[in-house]
Amino acid sequence: MSDSSDNRGRAVRKVKPFLDELEAKPFWANLRKHELTAQRCRACGKLFTFPPQGSCPHCLSPDYEWVPLSGKGKVYSFVSYNRAWHPSYEGKVPYNVSLVDLEEGPRLISNVIDCPPEQVKVGMPVEVVYEDHEDYTLPKFRPVK
Ligand SMILES: [Zn+2]
Repeated sequence: MSDSSDNRGRAVRKVKPFLDELEAKPFWANLRKHELTAQRCRACGKLFTFPPQGSCPHCLSPDYEWVPLSGKGKVYSFVSYNRAWHPSYEGKVPYNVSLVDLEEGPRLISNVIDCPPEQVKVGMPVEVVYEDHEDYTLPKFRPVK
């Protein structure tokens, strides 16, 4: 997908993730390979995920590794947008923004897709799907059938 225009024909730059932040580079590179990963602290063993960071939020150790996740989780909470918060989202409303509790524990902000927004429910089982863009891949979620 590339930049587009809004409903008045003005050029609109897409909202993109910050791909160059040092700690986040493995996260985005793994998503490009369709692998959802999280950081695991080598000192306390706890997982942490987005946004990637340079030290463990539980014990502050800077010693961590990247580990694969199942991509399965449940909707913890969500909101439904009926108005675009950014011009590049015009034409996409209504859409949801969801907090997904991953099976392994971390919580991720994403969207539930392949499902009308009014059918998204708290506790709904979901699984990751990968949305490829020109130079990055986003983890989205769909209901488990
Ligand atoms: Zn730790």
